Amino acid sequence: GGSDVKAHFVFIPLMFQGHLIPAVDTALLLASHGALVSIVITPSNTSRVRPTVDFALKSGLPVRLVELPLDLAAELLPDGADDVDKVPSDLWPNHFRALARLREPLERHLRARAARPYPTCVVADFCHPWARELAASLGVPRLCFFSMCAFCLLCQHNVERFNAYDGVADDHELVVVPGLEKRVEVSRAQAPGFFRGLPGFEKFADDVEQVLAEADGIVTNSFLEMEPEYVAGYAEARRMKVWTVGPVSLFHQRSSATTLASRGETAAIAADECLRWLDGKEPSSVVYVSFGSVAHAEPKQVVELGLGLEASGHPFIWVVKNADQHGEEVRDFILELEARVAGRGLLIRGWAPQVLILSHAAVGGFVTHCGWNSTMEAVAAGLPVVAWPHFSDQFLNAKFAVEVLGIGVDVGVIEPVMFQVDQREVVVARDVVEKAVRSIMDGGDEAEERRRKARELAAKARAAVEGGGSSHANLLDLIESFKVD
Ligand code: UDP
Repeated sequence: GGSDVKAHFVFIPLMFQGHLIPAVDTALLLASHGALVSIVITPSNTSRVRPTVDFALKSGLPVRLVELPLDLAAELLPDGADDVDKVPSDLWPNHFRALARLREPLERHLRARAARPYPTCVVADFCHPWARELAASLGVPRLCFFSMCAFCLLCQHNVERFNAYDGVADDHELVVVPGLEKRVEVSRAQAPGFFRGLPGFEKFADDVEQVLAEADGIVTNSFLEMEPEYVAGYAEARRMKVWTVGPVSLFHQRSSATTLASRGETAAIAADECLRWLDGKEPSSVVYVSFGSVAHAEPKQVVELGLGLEASGHPFIWVVKNADQHGEEVRDFILELEARVAGRGLLIRGWAPQVLILSHAAVGGFVTHCGWNSTMEAVAAGLPVVAWPHFSDQFLNAKFAVEVLGIGVDVGVIEPVMFQVDQREVVVARDVVEKAVRSIMDGGDEAEERRRKARELAAKARAAVEGGGSSHANLLDLIESFKVD
């Protein structure tokens, strides 16, 4: 891009994988339609986005990585703290605060001659309240970036604005989400509102609400045809334009397997080894099991999950994230299980090439924590899910997948498993795991119906991102709305 560039979007992602990955994909989608995009990143996270960005650069897309050091944050956080994987969760509030230190160096960078053309729009993760002052000071509009469905955003918003939890007996009492046509029940434990009730985040929760209310619009990884009433409802409630641009993972339809296997992190298994394993399986026969980038499995839960998968009788790929951190007993259990299910079960210890796996025809179902990206990736792949939420927006996403979209079964988790003092409990027993897996994989009328709906949705998702589709049109509209003449 040179002097002909008319729109320059500055993306400021939150440096958590579930926020960073979709922000980068969204930026690259805008770049693929001719907008210049600058993606702000901190040193520990650069390698996470580099392969994807390099792929985009090789394809000639106008994209820049703006790497800014965070060394000012030393008193808030231990060494290397811009890598959130190394930050204990009780220090997360500090991580969020430390990122506000990016404002000054970023503004200096954007004003410099070398960074020209001057930005025309800031697209900041909703977790960066400081982006408001940045955009104001630069004199450019600011959009809030979400990787969430409008259903979740509207539920949270309505619960908050209609004080739905007033007078509830406890955090587990179910209330009907106000202002929806469909009857949806939640508890405060499941949907407290963004950052509400988390120690250290009290002020932050208010800040987030404020910057959201004052944004010039919302960009989100969803698509209109999946939830037209919720997109319209949320836009109306916020009196703000909502640009749905997803599923953003479909940007990678053109990526090579190797590039895909380093989306977000270098995968713990080589792309071709993974593909070879999947190639040997029947169509729609394999269940993929993963709980995203943040949730860490507790020892007893790992054992129950493993036994449940084994008992289901179905081939599976199981991503065991923190396998090496478990004690000897659990590590031995995993090794023995691996030997017993050799050929039928593939364990990935660490980062999995998730989109590569989900896009393979051999995969027929997904046991997921319902992080929004994973849910959207399941939708894009046309897969039924077992919904096993852990924390945050995942409970609402699970309800959306099961009750609204009709593509999943719920394992019945009633409260978050993160942010608890004692996390050592078994939340989902082996027979529940087995039954849930069987119910999406075994067949039968209900399973067929879920599968049919999932495939139908995937076709709509693909249509949304293709020429003439709603997400495609929204990308063009974003560029048109935030260009300089
Ligand atoms: N992901 C992956 N491999 C893994 C774990 C996660 O590729 O082993 C990707 C996944 O495809 C998704 C993102 O990381 O794009 C996780 O986001 P999500 O919203 O699903 O969950 P979170 O990690 O935020 O809990």
